[in-house]
Parts: sequence; C-alpha cells; structure tokens
Amino acid sequence: MDGIPTPLRCFSEQHSAEMFVDDGVETVTSREQKNVERIIEETIDVYKQMHSLPQPTLLREQHYQYLKKGLRHLSDAYECLDASRPWLCFWILHGLEILEEPIPPAVASDVCQFLGRCQSPTGGFAGGPGQHAHLAPTYAAVNALCIIGTEEAYGVIDREKLLDFLWSLKQPDGSFTMHIGGEVDVRSAYCAVSVASLTNIITPKLFEDTTNWILSCQNWEGGLSGVPGLEAHGGYTFCGTAALVILGNEHMLDLKALLRWVVSRQMRFEGGFQGRCNKLVDGCYSFWQAGLLPLLHRALFKDGELELSRQRWMFDQQALQEYILLCCQNPTGGLLDKPGKSRDFYHTCYCLSGLSIAQHFGNMEHHQEIILGKEENRLAPIHPVYNICPEKVAQALQHFLRLPVPTDLRQPGVSGDTKSSEPDSAYAEPQS
Ligand SMILES: [Zn+2]
Repeated sequence: MDGIPTPLRCFSEQHSAEMFVDDGVETVTSREQKNVERIIEETIDVYKQMHSLPQPTLLREQHYQYLKKGLRHLSDAYECLDASRPWLCFWILHGLEILEEPIPPAVASDVCQFLGRCQSPTGGFAGGPGQHAHLAPTYAAVNALCIIGTEEAYGVIDREKLLDFLWSLKQPDGSFTMHIGGEVDVRSAYCAVSVASLTNIITPKLFEDTTNWILSCQNWEGGLSGVPGLEAHGGYTFCGTAALVILGNEHMLDLKALLRWVVSRQMRFEGGFQGRCNKLVDGCYSFWQAGLLPLLHRALFKDGELELSRQRWMFDQQALQEYILLCCQNPTGGLLDKPGKSRDFYHTCYCLSGLSIAQHFGNMEHHQEIILGKEENRLAPIHPVYNICPEKVAQALQHFLRLPVPTDLRQPGVSGDTKSSEPDSAYAEPQS
C-alpha cells in the first residue's frame, strides 16, 4: 500500500491548539507535562528544519545492528537485569522478527541452550541459570522459544513440570503469585494463561476462578489495576484483557468503559500513549495500550457491535506512528521512552510492537495497512494477544496440540489425553 500522502499532524496549523489545556492550577504534574510538550515540540522543529518533505523514516538498519549486537554482548548497564535474562532474549528476538530479520541457526541454537539452563528443575524458567523460577521470565522464555520455532526450541520446554509450576503458584481465589512466596497481580494471570495456552497444558481446573479474579481488577476508571481496588494501568490492563481473550471470557468485561479509558490514554499533543491518567507519554505504552485496541475491536464485534470500522482501529494510528518515528528513535539504533531518555531493549521491543499495531489493521484474511512515511517503514504484523508474529503462534499451536495435555495430578481421575480447545490464532477481528 502507498504511504500516506497527507501532511504530518505536526505540520498542521492546529497542532499548537491541541496542546495541554489545564485549569490554571499549576502542579508538579502540569509542569512536567508542559516540559515534555516543549521537548517534543523542539524535536519536531528540528525535524522540520532538516526535512522539507515530511517522510519520517524507520532507522531499520540501525535498529537491526543494535539488536544483533545485544544477542552476543551486553554493556555493564544491563547488570541490573541479571534476573531478567530470558526477557532480553525475547525483546531482542521479537524486535528482529518484527524487522523481518532472520535469526542465524547457530544463534538460535545457542539461545535454546541458554534458556534450557534457565529452566528450573521444579518447572518454569528463572531469570538466569541457578535462580528461582518466576512467571515473568517463564513467559519471556516460552515466547522466545516460540519465535525461534524449531524442534530444538519446542523441546526445551518441560511441559509436565511447567504445569506443576503453574499449580504451585495458583491461589484459592483464582489468582497466581509471580513465584513461590511472591506477590499476586494480574501480570501473573496473563503469563500463566499465555504459556499454558501456547504449550497446550491447560487442564479443566487450572484456570478455575481466574476469570472472576481478573474481572475484579477492572475499576471505576474502566481500565484494570494490578490487584483489585488500585489505579488502572496500561500494562496490567493489557495483561488482564489478553488473558481473558485467551480464556474466551473478554465479553465479561465492561468493554465500553475499557474502550473509553484506553482511547483517553492517547496523548492529544504527543500522539503516543500514557500508562495511567495524568502521567507522561512513554514509547512502551505504544504496545501495552494500543495493543488493547485490536483485542477490544474483536471483542466488541463478537458482542454484536456492527458499527465498527472495517479500515482502522479506534485510535489515531498515524499520530502514534509519528510519535514513535520522530520522538522515540535513537539515531544510532534502538528505541526509547521519550526524547532525552536513553535507548534499551525493552523500549525497542515495545515501540516496534506498537508501531506494527499502528500499521496493520485486521487479521490474516482481512488486512488493511496504514504506513506513515516510506513503504520501507513497514514492519511484520504481530499477534496482539501473545506479542509474537501470528505465524509463530500458529506454528507453536500446531506443534503442541499434537501432544497430549499432561496428566494433572491435582485432579485425580482426569486422564492425560484431554485436548484443550485450540485458542483462536487470528490476531485481530473483523470477519465478513
Ligand atoms: Zn516505558
């Protein structure tokens, strides 16, 4: 599809009129917001001075080099992420797959062996070899292995022990702790549901009451909080909603309230998303918030909402692309939170994921592209539930659905060959 010929939003006259409107009461929050708007305006001014024709460019080669180098070598700055090493594998491999850069077989095999060493003897994956198993690196490791998608990669996952590990974290109210003795929040429900569905280990009782627990996290704002009763937050809202989509229960949310909450998180001046009400724009919410729109579109469609667009998601897809391309790219590769912040693999992964969502509407059958700037800016589409490419989801399901669901020792009498229903692999909605 052709690039969008219309002028960039930042070149339009009404741009300044869209700036933050406050009630005249200056606070720390309002000062910070004005400061960010000033920095973004300066960034865009510099861009306008350098380019007579607005054609924001994805620095594809630079991002590729940055990601490729990270797979083999990390600077001292990553010492603090020693307990998140499977995450680094996922962020980098996912960034590469979105850029449609192949992973050399030798590198893929090394990653499989490394993740194998992170797998705990008690099941699940730890943040590094010899550490305790934890649901977050378990999610990251399973996703990374599904991106690699080889027999070697799938073979790393000990599904029987993974099921034991999930049971060891399950709480009587349906929630999960992040690790044994750890905290409960809606991330753990998503990580558990995501890995269990991808590897076909869902047993009838495993997620009993989990839906009701997640639903209790939706608050008066419309979004979801980490645990019932707290403030709505983009990361938790994504996790809870995606988990409900996998469980087939997303219709039980107040979808309209959730839609209102998430669309209000797209910043009217910056074009990117904030994580919570009254917070600043941040590139990583390009995925956590914008990723909700495909889930919601599909859920509302299934709910009988027939007035939905067949062309686009319910957010300003061009404005988000403009924010990512103009404000979140490091000129030497890697992406970031906002101008002035440094690049990292986390923001690189989630800015690219959000950019992909903003470029692609629909599913594999019905597909519409909105590419801001050159055609070369086009990224691969992603599956918004798992945040890996849809063909990798389909391939993993095809592999694991051939294997029997492990015998669930928590359920005497249940035979080991129960097949769970296949999660819907379409990465978005409207069907004709
Ligand atoms: Zn961020």
